[in-house]
Amino acid sequence: MSRSATFPAPSLPQPSPARSPRRGPARRRTALAAAAIVAASCLAAPGQALAGAPPGPPGKTPVATGYGGAVSTVDPDASAAAIEVLKRGGNAMDAAVAAAATLGVTEPYVAAIGGGGYMTYYDARKRRVYTVDGREAAPRRMRADSFVDPATGKALPFEEAVTSGLSVGVPGTLAQWENALRRHGTRSLGTLLQPAIRVAEKGFVVDQEFRDQTAVNEARFRDIVPTRQLFLPGGKLPVVGSTFRNPDLARTYRELAKRGTDWFYEGELGREVVRAVQKPPVDPAATRKVRPGLMERRDLDAYKALNPRPTSVSYRGLDVYGMPPSSSGGSTVGEALNILGNFRLDARDPARTLHYYLEASKLAFADRGRYVGDPAQVKVPLEELLSRGFARERACLIQPDRAAAAPVPPGSPDGRYSPCVPPGGATRALAYEGPQTTHLVTADKWGNVVAYNVTLEQFGGSGITVPGRGFILNNELTDFTLQPPAPGSPPDPNLPGPGKRPRSSMAPTIVLQDGRPRMALGSPGGSTIITTVLQILVNRIDLGMRLPDALAAPRATQRNTPQVFAEQAFLDRYGRALAARGHRLELFPGPPAGTIGAATGLEFLAPGLVQAVAEPVRRGGGSAQVVRPRR
Ligand code: GLU
Repeated sequence: MSRSATFPAPSLPQPSPARSPRRGPARRRTALAAAAIVAASCLAAPGQALAGAPPGPPGKTPVATGYGGAVSTVDPDASAAAIEVLKRGGNAMDAAVAAAATLGVTEPYVAAIGGGGYMTYYDARKRRVYTVDGREAAPRRMRADSFVDPATGKALPFEEAVTSGLSVGVPGTLAQWENALRRHGTRSLGTLLQPAIRVAEKGFVVDQEFRDQTAVNEARFRDIVPTRQLFLPGGKLPVVGSTFRNPDLARTYRELAKRGTDWFYEGELGREVVRAVQKPPVDPAATRKVRPGLMERRDLDAYKALNPRPTSVSYRGLDVYGMPPSSSGGSTVGEALNILGNFRLDARDPARTLHYYLEASKLAFADRGRYVGDPAQVKVPLEELLSRGFARERACLIQPDRAAAAPVPPGSPDGRYSPCVPPGGATRALAYEGPQTTHLVTADKWGNVVAYNVTLEQFGGSGITVPGRGFILNNELTDFTLQPPAPGSPPDPNLPGPGKRPRSSMAPTIVLQDGRPRMALGSPGGSTIITTVLQILVNRIDLGMRLPDALAAPRATQRNTPQVFAEQAFLDRYGRALAARGHRLELFPGPPAGTIGAATGLEFLAPGLVQAVAEPVRRGGGSAQVVRPRR
C-alpha cells in the first residue's frame, strides 16, 4: 500500500474571456483545480449544454453555467421555480424549498409532503455547513417485529410491506421545510409554495418518464381508490403529451400557505393522514391485502426535524461534508474516501482506480451494515468510523490486484488500530431497499449552497394517496430491517422501534475547498446513492473528469455483495479489466433496469461562476439552470 501523495495543485480553470470573473481573490491551487483544468478547455458557452455532452430530452438541459445562482433538479418546472425565487432575491434555501414543493407536483411519486428527506446547507456568511434531518419516524407503537407476520413468523414479503399503512413513517418534509426556512431561509413557506401551486393548477406536460413511473405502479394504484382517481385519469395511464393537473394538491398547498404546518402536525390534515394510514382507502373489490399502519395523532404531534452536525472528512485537500446518522450516507461515503486516501490513484489508469473505489466501498458497506442506525436509539461509533486510524486498518485489506471475496466482515471501530489486522466479525447481508426518489442542488449569489434529497422512499411510496389532498404517503419504514436477526447473530442497528428513524442511504454532499464551497452533489437510488456519490467524487477528483462527465460516466455499485452491479456501458468499458482482478460483474438489475442513480450536482468554477449539472440521459434527464448566463 502506498500513502497518497499530495495531489498536484495547479491553478483554477481559466474560464473563457466572456465568463472571466472581474473580481474575486485568486484561489489557492488545489486538487480539484487539477481536474478542472482538464475541463476548462471543453467548457461550452455559459448556459448551454457542453459540446460533446449528449443533448438532454426536450425542455431539459443537463448543464448550465453562469452567475447569480444555479439549480439542478430532475424537472424543468422545479428548476424554474428555484430560479424564480433566486431572481426575486431569495437565497439557496428558499430556492430549494420552492423546487421541492414543485417536485411534489411534477414528480409526485418521488417527492411529496407525505415523505421526508435530508439537507446539507453551506452558510456563506458563517462559512459553515449545517444539516436539516426530515427523516420519517416510526410511530410509537412500532416494535422490532412489527413487520413480522404472526401467521408465518417471517417478515412480510417486501412487496406486501411496500404497499401498506405499516410502512408509512411520520412525514418529515413539512417540519424540515419549516426548520430549514427558520434557520437558513429568507422567505415564508407560503410564498415559496406559490410557484408549485401555479404548476399544480395549470398542470404540466406528461413525459415518458412520468408515464413509465405510473406504469410500474399501475396495479397497486388501481387498487387504492384516491390514487387511482388521481393518477390513472379515466382509469388509464396518463398519455404522453397530455396536461396533468392536481387541483387537490393546489388546494392543500394553499391551505398550508394560510395555516402553516400545524395544520399537518396538529390539525385536520394530520387527522386525515392518520386515517389513511390506519384504514388505507382500498377498493373493496381489490384482492390485494393492504395492512393498516400503527400511526396515531400523537406521533405527528411528537415529530421534530433535527439539526445534527454534518459528517466531514478531508480528501485530497478538500473537505467533504455529508449527512450523519440516521443516514448512512455521510459516514459511508466518508469512510470510503478515508480508505481511498491511503492510495495514490492515477487518472491514467482508470480501471485500477475503479478497483480501489469498489474495494473501499465494499469495506465501508460492511461497517455501515453493522454499526449505523438511528443514533437516538443505537450507539453509532461515528467518530471512529470516520477516523484515519480505522481507515488505515481497513485500507490494508485492499489488494492492488485482487478483489476481496464479498461479503467482507465489518471492522472494529474501537479506537485501537494496528496495521493489517484481519477483522473477525460476522457479516450482515445487504437488505433490499426500494430503488429511487430524487435529489436537487441550489446555490445563490451569496455563495450559500443546498444539497437536498427529498423522498417517498421509492417510486410511488406506499401507493396511498390521502383522499382529496393530492399527495402520496411514503413507505420509508421499509428501510428498516424487516426481519429481526436469529438468536446468536450479530446485532442489527436498524431494527424497527418506537419513534425510530429508519437508516437511510441519502447522501446530500457539499465539498469545500479552503473553506468555500466547491461542489455539491447527490443522487437517488436507495443504497446505490452512496456508491453513486462516491463514484462521482472519484471521477471528478481522482480521474480528473469535469463534473458533467463525472455525472454522466457509466456507474458500478459494490455494496458488499458477491457481485458488482454495473451499467452496461461500464461493463463494456471496464468489465474485462476488473474481472481480471476478480470482480464478478453483472448488469444492474434495477429498477430501473440497467440504470444507477439520477444525480444532480453543481460546481463553483470561479468566484460567482457556477456550473449546474443534471443527468443527460438517465431517468429521462434532468434540468440544470442558472440565473444569468453572463455576469
Ligand atoms: N429510502 C431511501 C433511503 O433513505 C431513499 C431512496 C432514494 O431517495 O432514492 O436511503
